[in-house]
Amino acid sequence: MSIMRSTLIALSKNRALQDLIVRIPISRKMARRFVPGETLADAIAVVKQLNSQGILASLDHLGENVAGEAEAVAAADEYLVALDALNAAGAECNVSVKLTQMGLDLGDDFCLANVSRIVARAAELGNFVRVDMEGSPYTERTIGIYRRLRATYGNAGLVIQAYLHRSQGDVEALIADGMGHFRLCKGAYDEPETIAYRERSRVTQALNELARTCLSPEGRAQGAYAAIASHDTEVINFVRAYAYQHDIPPAAYEFQMLYGIRRELQTDLVQRGHRMRVYVPYGTHWYPYFMRRLAERPANLLFFLRALVGN
Ligand SMILES: Cc1cc2nc3c(=O)[nH]c(=O)nc-3n(C[C@H](O)[C@H](O)[C@H](O)COP(=O)(O)OP(=O)(O)OC[C@H]3O[C@@H](n4cnc5c(N)ncnc54)[C@H](O)[C@@H]3O)c2cc1C
Repeated sequence: MSIMRSTLIALSKNRALQDLIVRIPISRKMARRFVPGETLADAIAVVKQLNSQGILASLDHLGENVAGEAEAVAAADEYLVALDALNAAGAECNVSVKLTQMGLDLGDDFCLANVSRIVARAAELGNFVRVDMEGSPYTERTIGIYRRLRATYGNAGLVIQAYLHRSQGDVEALIADGMGHFRLCKGAYDEPETIAYRERSRVTQALNELARTCLSPEGRAQGAYAAIASHDTEVINFVRAYAYQHDIPPAAYEFQMLYGIRRELQTDLVQRGHRMRVYVPYGTHWYPYFMRRLAERPANLLFFLRALVGN
């Protein structure tokens, strides 16, 4: 992982910089590439537009590491409103939640109770909740809460980060316990080499191995389902080839990408008969999400810095 990437991820947690960046009109404008709007109505309009192109969506109300219980409860309430609005709009869209937004820093039981309200409402509406994965201090507890959620509800899935050494074992254990509904991604945080692969090629290889574990006859026989969340053609081509060689129907897996990234590839995969879901974040707390997107691609940072200087 480059020093620049580590620095940007560290800066994504810097409150003073956040206060500065969110006030600059040019950064708001650039964030729009990745965060299509600040309101639920903005986000649903984007979801409907994606749906009209045959693309599914997952809605994320931006926010992480809330400071107190009232904020966590309000964040979950916003998801309840969003689920009802998606239902009323007839949108093909589930929701993604971050447990630190649901109060993970305030205790596991509190967080579980809060996120359960969302999963319960989604179940009533025939919808689904994806639990996003955050930095490694939260991995074990996130998996623990996911397991407790799945003990009651079938309509929840978990994100797995391929860069973590532990992930292959986590995936195998969860599949064995009938809880293998995953979004598989490379991982967006800055993790030490004691626990994570840091070379791009090794992370790609790990992601392909996780996809193979889920898509294998043994994995599917145990109910595993994989959403392959990557814009990397090496990963996408690996999955497509594996599915083709093993006669795996497109309904048995899906591809996922982030709003604003590789749009042509999104529509191309839909035209080839694949299921494609786009992650649509919305809200005013876009700063950490935006910084992680800058960290993923040096060209984004250069573009942003040029815009700032030229401003
Ligand atoms: C639907 C979805 C949900 C995710 N949820 C999580 C999560 O819960 N937890 C987590 O840690 N991570 C999450 N991620 C982020 C993920 O871990 C990676 O950081 C991110 O997807 C970049 O990795 P990549 O597989 O696309 O490969 P990369 O090798 O990073 O990128 C491959 C190519 O995609 C394009 N690309 C990638 N990123 C960008 C960008 N920011 N701007 C412009 N072009 C870009 C470039 O052309 C690049 O060459 C999610 C990703 C997706 C798609």
